[in-house]
Amino acid sequence: MRLSQYFLPTLKENPTEAQIVSHRLMLRAGLVRQTSAGIYAWLPLGFRVLKKIEQIVREEQDASGAQEVLMPTIQPAELWQLSGRYDVYGKEMLRIKDRHERDMLYGPTNEEMITDIFKSFVKSYRDLPRNLYHIQWKFRDEVRPRFGVMRGREFLMKDAYSFDLDFAGAKLAYQKMFLAYLRTYARMGLKAIPMRADSGAIGGDMSHEFIILADTGESAVYCHPDWLKLDPLNESVSYNQKELDPFVERWTSLYAATDEKHKPGCANIPDNQLLTARGIEVGHIFYFGTKYSKPLNAFVTGPNGEQIFLEMGSYGIGVSRLVGAIIEASHDDNGIIWPESVAPFKVGLINLKQGAAQTDKVCEDIYTKLNQAKIDVLYDDRSESAGIKFNGMDLIGLPWHLVVGPRGLEKNVVELKYRKTGERQELSIDSALAKLAG
Ligand code: ATP
Ligand code: MG
Repeated sequence: MRLSQYFLPTLKENPTEAQIVSHRLMLRAGLVRQTSAGIYAWLPLGFRVLKKIEQIVREEQDASGAQEVLMPTIQPAELWQLSGRYDVYGKEMLRIKDRHERDMLYGPTNEEMITDIFKSFVKSYRDLPRNLYHIQWKFRDEVRPRFGVMRGREFLMKDAYSFDLDFAGAKLAYQKMFLAYLRTYARMGLKAIPMRADSGAIGGDMSHEFIILADTGESAVYCHPDWLKLDPLNESVSYNQKELDPFVERWTSLYAATDEKHKPGCANIPDNQLLTARGIEVGHIFYFGTKYSKPLNAFVTGPNGEQIFLEMGSYGIGVSRLVGAIIEASHDDNGIIWPESVAPFKVGLINLKQGAAQTDKVCEDIYTKLNQAKIDVLYDDRSESAGIKFNGMDLIGLPWHLVVGPRGLEKNVVELKYRKTGERQELSIDSALAKLAG
């Protein structure tokens, strides 16, 4: 992509409405535009990041055995009246009437709908277990939408729903998601701590919130500092997907809790080793047994002809919140620092002397080669000063900056800067390209 043709409305000044750094940077880097309180349009650069995050979530859900569906955003009220949540949900639910005066709503979540869909097809225990997920916009009329996309009213969520015959099955489904979540966040360069959360009476300890550390987070976090040294991507591969107790135990033994109420759970961590911090909730997994299957009459016929209500769990990831959360976790004074896996472009190509025959020719050549190699590149081909180009590239936070200037070209070198560390290297064009291809 050529920056001269790109729709990238960056801002020079800090927008006054943004209280936290990620919100500020998202507006300044031209990622989103607020259209109503807590409702955002995704601009090209932000949309690329959102899609990358979504794709990592999808790949890990698929790898865990979950299957993707897509349910609508608009739901009929009837299902929610059956579960009793139509009244309970209160003002957070956006209620709509259609032209026939039928009560509809913009879905805040999908337990009722998926249960209804599932039960109309699945009649036998032989068709279990299943786990279905979708990645779809939700609406919750939050009292205080704030912090940009982190607490929006319309937001993108991945929500998965597992259906099992018995508790043992539901527990395994839960553990598979637990593992998939750790992998998902790790692939985005995040350390997400699974915190035991309230699951009401039924779940026992089968509810975890996944929290990433950030000073501006809304949740308090307690955990063992060693937790931060664990690496889920390396570890998860060595486990048998059918026997995940040891994996979950290992990851929860450095016990972490979300609030004072749960702090006694940290008893195995000496006080002086307890890490107390703030964090952002980026996911929540939850076992709830037959809470929805009973009122919605969702059961299968068991091996002996008996009726068995479906054992269920639900598993959410805040996909759009993650865009803000990743920035909270990865930025500096100059701007965003995208982890490579979610970066909108891998390379920012800077031409220091736009309009000069030699730099233009070299840049065009590099641009073509990167595109041919399917390496996402944003080419700053504007007639702007070096300072403006450097600052702009730092602000939008692409991982690699490839700088082409007349002085370097005299020595047959270009400069490659790694945004994260600021480290710069002078390299021949070929070795720079080879390095970016690696
Ligand atoms: P919170 O306590 O932050 O309101 P929640 O408990 O209501 O979250 P869930 O219903 O578990 O959230 O939803 C799953 C995930 O969706 C959350 O972990 C969070 O990452 C994301 N999420 C929830 N509400 C919002 C929102 N208003 N804006 C953006 N993301 C959200
Ligand atoms: Mg909420």
